[in-house]
Amino acid sequence: MECLFCKIINREIPADIVFEDEYVLAFNDINPQAPTHQLIIPKKHIATLNDIQSEDLAIIGRLQYTAAYLAKQQGFADDGYRVVMNCNEMGGQTVYHIHMHLMGGRQFTWPAG
Ligand code: 5GP
Ligand code: ZN
Repeated sequence: MECLFCKIINREIPADIVFEDEYVLAFNDINPQAPTHQLIIPKKHIATLNDIQSEDLAIIGRLQYTAAYLAKQQGFADDGYRVVMNCNEMGGQTVYHIHMHLMGGRQFTWPAG
């Protein structure tokens, strides 16, 4: 399996893992864009948001649920945070295993930054 995030799941590449259960893994982003920047990924390989199947819906819900859990656990849930999922080239996706970015600890602006 050539996928970088599958290699992290399989412990073939090290990562700073912050949460794991049967369905998802979360770890610190190697190039953080906020004081807290974590990636939450399904253990099932799904390349892009366009590849989600109906049988994957529970797993996708778990990504969001885990983001809120981690935000609460780390103490910035009430202050606020941002979750982002990028799709394909124009969406800024660089790793083709879907992932939710969880960013907290600073003020975000909209639509950029
Ligand atoms: P994307 O651009 O696909 O939405 O996000 C990919 C994210 O993966 C980027 O924020 C990037 O910093 C992060 N990333 C890329 N390679 C690695 C790695 O080897 N380890 C970790 N922890 N994060 C990575
Ligand atoms: Zn993968």
